Amino acid sequence: MQMQVIKNANVINEQGQLELKHIVIAGGLIEAVVSELADLPQDSRAQIIDAEGKLVTPGFIDMHVHLREPGYEHKETIETGSRSAVKGGFTTIACMPNTRPVTDTPETVKLILDKAREANLAKVLPYAAITKNELGRELTDFEALKEAGAIGFTDDGVGVQNAQMMKDAMRKAKALGMPVIAHCEDDSLVKGACVTEGEFAERHGLKGIPNESEAIHVGRDILLTEATGVHYHVCHVSTEQSVRLIRQAKAIGISVTAEVCPHHLVLSDEDIPGLDANWKMNPPLRSPRDVEACIEGLLDGTLDMIVTDHAPHSAEEKAKGMELAPFGIVGFETAFPLLYTKFVATGKWDLSLLVRRMTSDPARVFGLDSGVLKAGAAADLTMIDLNAEKEVNPETFATKGRNTPFTGWKLKGWPVMTWVDGEVKWSEQGGF
Ligand SMILES: [Zn+2]
Repeated sequence: MQMQVIKNANVINEQGQLELKHIVIAGGLIEAVVSELADLPQDSRAQIIDAEGKLVTPGFIDMHVHLREPGYEHKETIETGSRSAVKGGFTTIACMPNTRPVTDTPETVKLILDKAREANLAKVLPYAAITKNELGRELTDFEALKEAGAIGFTDDGVGVQNAQMMKDAMRKAKALGMPVIAHCEDDSLVKGACVTEGEFAERHGLKGIPNESEAIHVGRDILLTEATGVHYHVCHVSTEQSVRLIRQAKAIGISVTAEVCPHHLVLSDEDIPGLDANWKMNPPLRSPRDVEACIEGLLDGTLDMIVTDHAPHSAEEKAKGMELAPFGIVGFETAFPLLYTKFVATGKWDLSLLVRRMTSDPARVFGLDSGVLKAGAAADLTMIDLNAEKEVNPETFATKGRNTPFTGWKLKGWPVMTWVDGEVKWSEQGGF
């Protein structure tokens, strides 16, 4: 592979400040990061990329995505999902097992890994189900699934209702050194609801999903984590109560980590314009008070990382309306611009905090060998134009999904080029 030099890149240094650097890529790795052009190796065949005025960060890592394959290829495939990921600046993505069949056998794990290799875009890390068919009745074969390449266990899409089942899962995962990742939702509290409990639900005569349906599982699982010592990771935290429970658990040394989605940081139920299912996701958009608690949790490290919960659906499915349409919105291609525009460009957050929560923090929590920009690391990189302003237009998305509430939003901070293992996988100029 030809040597590449990314010249004049703004990179974030260890102190969180921007610094002008030149990045040398060779053999799939970052070979050097230097300050002076004179320090660059004199390889006349090297390809020079001028990053002047652009930010270059480690490639983004998204530990919660739905690629829909196998089984729901009309919504997304591993290839289209991976295209969407690299277009959004993501180089590593971890996919959820609520496929058809559910990712509960080594064969399905291997199929996902094979398809990801064929797509040859982002690094795809598959999760496997905790219970067979995600039905909550019988544990899957953790050992075989780990052997096949699964990186953790989760029944995402549904909560594990039975506490003994969850405890058994945690014990088994602990013995294998694997994490348990939990979609927290108590079914007895949410039957048939589609938006959060509160004013919007009342106004439209809809049944609401109460905050405690999430937090009650978080609390239960924290106690089970204390008892088993497993690495327990909470999916898409959306409530003030969950943030509080996780903060308290971390303070006394319980091995819990957590994630939050851009939409739960940017939108509340007060923003939902009407009965449009592009605003329907699970967990639902909560109250402004919950949004504030999630932001606070992300800033103080209670919530370790940002994930998109990228969840594509077809236009036909989403047209069924608020009550009948499936839950979920797409996320890869708007995540960074959304958070940059809303929080960094407005001076509320440091750029370095946003980048950490999308790179080195997920890498640290899941023990991944990526998420850093330094010599010797894999050349997984994202170049971003912080100044270019563009309107969100779902028709331009690489994902098959058009289901986003952010259509028409004017955002800054768009990725323009993405490298995985030193190969340019997408650029604004050259496409895929
Ligand atoms: Zn979920």
